[in-house]
Amino acid sequence: MQVVKTIAEARALRQKLGGTVGFVPTMGYLHEGHLALVKQASIGNSAVIVSIYVNPVQFSPREDFGAYPRDLDRDLELLRGEGVDIVFVPSDDEMYPPEFSSWVDVDKVTERLEGASRPGHFRGVATVVAKLFNIVQPTKAYFGQKDAQQAGVIKRMVADLNMGIEIVFVPTVRESDGLAMSSRNIYLSPGERQAATILFKALTLARQLRQGGEKDAGKIRWQMTSLIQKEPLAQIDYVSIADAETLEELNLIDRPALASLAVRIGKTRLIDNMPLE
Ligand code: AMP
Repeated sequence: MQVVKTIAEARALRQKLGGTVGFVPTMGYLHEGHLALVKQASIGNSAVIVSIYVNPVQFSPREDFGAYPRDLDRDLELLRGEGVDIVFVPSDDEMYPPEFSSWVDVDKVTERLEGASRPGHFRGVATVVAKLFNIVQPTKAYFGQKDAQQAGVIKRMVADLNMGIEIVFVPTVRESDGLAMSSRNIYLSPGERQAATILFKALTLARQLRQGGEKDAGKIRWQMTSLIQKEPLAQIDYVSIADAETLEELNLIDRPALASLAVRIGKTRLIDNMPLE
């Protein structure tokens, strides 16, 4: 496994690879969720490239960029265990030199949910992923269902800008009590960790109601909201039942829908989602 810090080195190593290249962009502090993406990339390609980069431009000044957990040595050990070929670990200066001034803006799908709660977030995500795609030139790139809106934004960008990269969605990996694995779970105190299971419980309730024949999205949102409000440590940011493709809020569930939510547990903002088939 080769670990490189500069764009020039990453490009040079990439050019030597034959066959298909699977790419997994991450912000590090890796867990089983990230490793599920890496495993899928290994199965589906001749070589695998992973990037580890906490992208400053997708964080607003009030968010946790400085505190975001980092442990590069441990991350590299985990990736070695998965047989990864190249790990790209750029610095901020390498990615955003002082003269940097080009941005990727994806409209519509970015307007709701995370886009509404975190202005500028998806502009930062789309820009860094476009840069990483240009550097790595993957055949396929792997994204988690956990961040469903992000995966949708990237898919839109790749189609709109004719990037010719196949985007593969990987199902959410959860802890045994249902909490979606996330690097941010480390912020939770033991009491908060227990309270955080409310996200999965609310999504499971949504799915049960839907499977029981409920088509009124408002009723499902209301039931989810009432359940979460019973948890004293939880503060709802949004609860959504939306069209699975466009993420427009639904009144009547007459097509594939996605239940998603963002909830603060103490100071930690957690997101999760579940398709409602
Ligand atoms: P991050 O390091 O949080 O930017 O995540 C990097 C990639 O891993 C993204 O495509 C995420 O959607 C994905 N990911 C994060 N957590 C999970 C999880 N629990 N299950 C599946 N994929 C995940």
